[in-house]
Amino acid sequence: MRIVVRCVMVPALALCAVLAPALAGGADWSEQQLATAGALRDRALSGTSAYDHVSSLVTEVGPRSAGSSGDAAAVRWALNKLASLGFSKVRTQDVLVPRWVRGNAEVTLAGSTPQPLVAVALGGSVGTSDEGVEAQVVEVASLDALNALPATTVGGKIVFINQRMERTRDGSGYGAAVRNRSEGPSAAGNLGAVALLIRSIGTSDQRYAHTGAINYRVDAPRIPALALSNPDADQLARWLKPGKPIRLRVKSTSRELPATWSANVIGEIPGAERANEIVLLGAHLDSWDLGQGAIDDGAGVAIVIEAARLIGRLERKPARTVRVVLFANEEFGLSGAREYARLVGDEAARHVIAAEADLGGGAVWRIQSKVAPDAVPAVDAIREALKPLALEGGSNEGRGGSDLGPLRALGVPILDLSQDATNYFDVHHTTNDTLAQIDAKTLNQVVAAYAVAAYMAASKTGDFGRLEASP
Ligand SMILES: [Zn+2]
Repeated sequence: MRIVVRCVMVPALALCAVLAPALAGGADWSEQQLATAGALRDRALSGTSAYDHVSSLVTEVGPRSAGSSGDAAAVRWALNKLASLGFSKVRTQDVLVPRWVRGNAEVTLAGSTPQPLVAVALGGSVGTSDEGVEAQVVEVASLDALNALPATTVGGKIVFINQRMERTRDGSGYGAAVRNRSEGPSAAGNLGAVALLIRSIGTSDQRYAHTGAINYRVDAPRIPALALSNPDADQLARWLKPGKPIRLRVKSTSRELPATWSANVIGEIPGAERANEIVLLGAHLDSWDLGQGAIDDGAGVAIVIEAARLIGRLERKPARTVRVVLFANEEFGLSGAREYARLVGDEAARHVIAAEADLGGGAVWRIQSKVAPDAVPAVDAIREALKPLALEGGSNEGRGGSDLGPLRALGVPILDLSQDATNYFDVHHTTNDTLAQIDAKTLNQVVAAYAVAAYMAASKTGDFGRLEASP
C-alpha cells in the first residue's frame, strides 16, 4: 500500500492532503523530488539535445562495426562528447572484440537467364571460394522445419529459410524469427548444406537485406550464410513454387580477421549523498557496417547521454550516481557487456538498477521491470510521474536490453522502458539505418522517460532489492 502526500507550502503553514492510493512505510521520494521529476519530464518534452547527439555521432563517425576504424573513432567521439557535456570520471574500459569484414555478396539465379537477388552476408559468416558455390535450393518454412529434414534432402544444397518476421509493437516478432539467423547456419551445415539463405529478419518490403550475427556451433561445418531482402525472398519463393529445381550461385568474400581492441566508454553524474551507489543507463556504441548506425544504436546512445546530462544540470542532484555506459560490440557477441560485468566486482552489489536504450527512436509506451517484488510499487510510481506520457504498465519479467544480461545474472535489477518497435525492424541492420529515420520530437519523449526514471531511481530512499543471481 502506498501513500502519496501532497503539500502546499504557505508561510508558517503546510497544508497536506493524503491522496489514495496511500503510501505506507515512509515515502520513497520527497514532495520536492517528485516535483523535480515532473519538471525534468516537462523540460525534456519541450526540447532536448538528443537529436544533436545522434546527428553528431552518425555525421562525425558513421558506421562502427566492432574493431573497425569507425569503432575506434566512435570511442574517441564518446570520450570527447561526455567530457564536453560535463560528465565526471569519463573513462574507457578496454574490450577485446572479434573482427569480421563483410566483403561483397552476390546471389544469382543460375542458368541461361541469370537474375541477381539482393543479399548481404550475415555477421560472422565465412565467405565462399573465389568461384562461389552453385547448387539447387531447398526451401523450408522455419528453423524447426529444417531440423526435421533428413541429411539426404539437404546435403549438397543451398538451404532457404523462408519465414517472414511479424511486425509487433513490442518487438516480439524479432525474437520469434531471429533463431533462423543465429542457429540456421549450423543447422544447415550439420545436414550437409553448402550455403544458407534466410529471408531477412526484418519487416520492410523495401529492397534491402538485414544483416545480424550468426552463431556457428563448434561441432558443425561452417557454411556461408546470407540474408535476402524481403522482395528478393518473395521472388525466390515464386521461382520455387512450380516445384522445378532452382539453382542459385552464391559468392561472398566475407572473412574473419584477428580479434582486436575496442572499449566501453563510461561517464558519470555523481550522486550528492550516496555517490558509490549506481543507477546505470546503457546503450551500445558499435553498429553494423551497412547503415549509419542511427537507430541502432545511435539513438540509444543519444537518449542515455541526454537523460543523464539533464539530471546533471539539476540544481539539486539525486543521492546516487547516474552512470552512462556505452558498451562495445553488442552486435557481434556482447563483448563490452561481458567485460563490464567481469570487471564490476564488488561494485555489482551497488548497482541499484540498470536500464538500456537499444530499440531505436520510437516512443516509450510501457514500463516493465525485473525488480524485487516489494519494489514493484516504486516502478508504478515512476510511471505515475510520467503520467502525461500515458504509459502502460508491464510485467515484472522485463529483460531490458541485451547488454544488461550479464549484470542481470549478477543480481542487478532491471528497468525496461519499452519503446515502440512497430517500425524499428523496417530498417534495423540495413543500409537504411540513417538519421532520416529519427524524429527529434519522439526522441525527446524517450529522453523524458529515461531522465525521470533515472532521476527517481537515483533519488529513491530505498533500493529495488536484488535479483536471484544466475550462472
Ligand atoms: Zn542494438
